Amino acid sequence: MAQEDVFKKLIAHCKEYGYIFPSSEIYDGLSAVYDYGQYGVELKNNIKKYWWDSMVLLNENIVGLDSAIFMHPTIWKASGHVDAFNDPLIDNKDSKKRYRADVLIEEHIAKIEEKIHKEIEKARTKFGDSFDEKKFRQTNARVITNQAKADEINSRYLKAMNATDLKELRQIILDNDIVCPISGSRNWTEVRQFNLMFATEMGSTTDGASKVYLRPETAQGIFVNFLNVQKTGRMKIPFGIAQIGKAFRNEIVARQFIFRMREFEQMEMQFFVQPGSELEWFRHWKNIRMKWHTALGYGEENYRFHDHTKLAHYANAATDIEYKFPFGFKEVEGIHSRTDFDLKQHQEFSGKKIQYFDPEKGESYIPYVIETSIGVDRMFLQIISSALREEEIIKENGTTDTRTVMKLPSFLAPVKLAVMPLVKKDGLPEIAEKIIHLLRFDFNCQYDDKDSIGRRYRRQDAIGTPYCITIDHQTIDDDTVTIRYRDTMLQERVKISSLKDIIAEKVSIASLLKKL
Ligand code: ATP
Repeated sequence: MAQEDVFKKLIAHCKEYGYIFPSSEIYDGLSAVYDYGQYGVELKNNIKKYWWDSMVLLNENIVGLDSAIFMHPTIWKASGHVDAFNDPLIDNKDSKKRYRADVLIEEHIAKIEEKIHKEIEKARTKFGDSFDEKKFRQTNARVITNQAKADEINSRYLKAMNATDLKELRQIILDNDIVCPISGSRNWTEVRQFNLMFATEMGSTTDGASKVYLRPETAQGIFVNFLNVQKTGRMKIPFGIAQIGKAFRNEIVARQFIFRMREFEQMEMQFFVQPGSELEWFRHWKNIRMKWHTALGYGEENYRFHDHTKLAHYANAATDIEYKFPFGFKEVEGIHSRTDFDLKQHQEFSGKKIQYFDPEKGESYIPYVIETSIGVDRMFLQIISSALREEEIIKENGTTDTRTVMKLPSFLAPVKLAVMPLVKKDGLPEIAEKIIHLLRFDFNCQYDDKDSIGRRYRRQDAIGTPYCITIDHQTIDDDTVTIRYRDTMLQERVKISSLKDIIAEKVSIASLLKKL
């Protein structure tokens, strides 16, 4: 399906079923800001719980933090965000659309690499087992030419980015005939730098208001609390601090629904280690974080690491975990070896000593840091975009029908079970109420007695409820109910007393955590 169609369907479904609404909708919305509805907030909370527990519950040496969004403005000077948290932007004069110059170039390189990939895959199918990819890359004329082209653009691009050479970035776009996807023209403006931080004022203007920023990442709140947590928690290196919270970026190109928003939420963990051991810990956290993703059951082939060749000013290694969204492989999480850059900067700018006395080494040092940083909203998008399906089903009378179903992992589904009396009489609603009363302390349950049972199943399929429990007249005689499974639509008769155990095993986040 084309990318726009994937998003259209997803956006419409999320709105219709109470997952995500455009912000300020009655005022025609606010660009790249969204509100999470009654089911969205539950799914979001479950994602956050899975992450939080995997960090704080499973690791004795990782503790949590909830720092404020507003921080002293000098923090952003020290971190480099005031001077360097910029994106190079460029406008097309015909379509009047604005783009990130770096993204235009990266997408162009990706297109050339895709051509190479296709060429290789074609040959692989043709030659079968005897195919030697390395040799093919060295000898096929088209692959050699395209690879040389991609390498040449890439090296010019990296040099220009590292030197913040905006003229050269524009020249790369011109030299490679990169056109505006909307107007198809090469009529580009100059490239300008654009700082992504939102600024506001704190205090009234008369008594000297000071400029403060809405944090563009949660990490700095962790760094400036490093000593507080280390001392009060008597933490010994290596240890980590985890935090979930809102971050704000004035993104130039904010599209693709909740993939790139101006207000979003991050789950970040900073792991403090001995200098010199950071690359070992970097590899360790790469593994741990990949396991966290694959435990959700989407298949290992749908994930890959994308190691950075262009490193941020603070990093000595960095990788992204990319997931194969229905619209291609995209970053969901970044893992960065941030060296001692941040703590050192804060030590310098605050004038306070930020060091750790290592009893084993008998010396003080500024720890090095490995960061794992994942967007809650991007993870949310990954889950719903993989879950939403339209399936053809064959009805009992042999005719076909379609159903819309959200095949969410049961652990994360907002509603775990719906309890439905077959009819609204003969004492069946009362039994349903009793079952809900029995299970509501453990699971998010929903009572539903409106419409035919078939329509009720469809409604629950559309919000992704993994189990539907139906009470019928047989229930009065033998205390059994039918349990209907969302994914297979199979039904089974089970005792009411066994419901809790059957469902608990499949939906508890604890059983997911045990896989890690
Ligand atoms: P990108 O390259 O996509 O702009 P980034 O490399 O700047 O992202 P980081 O600063 O490493 O992202 O942030 C860590 C994570 O936060 C990302 O992997 C992503 O999941 C999430 N994230 C970053 N920016 C946004 C945004 N504007 N909207 C939603 N999530 C975001």
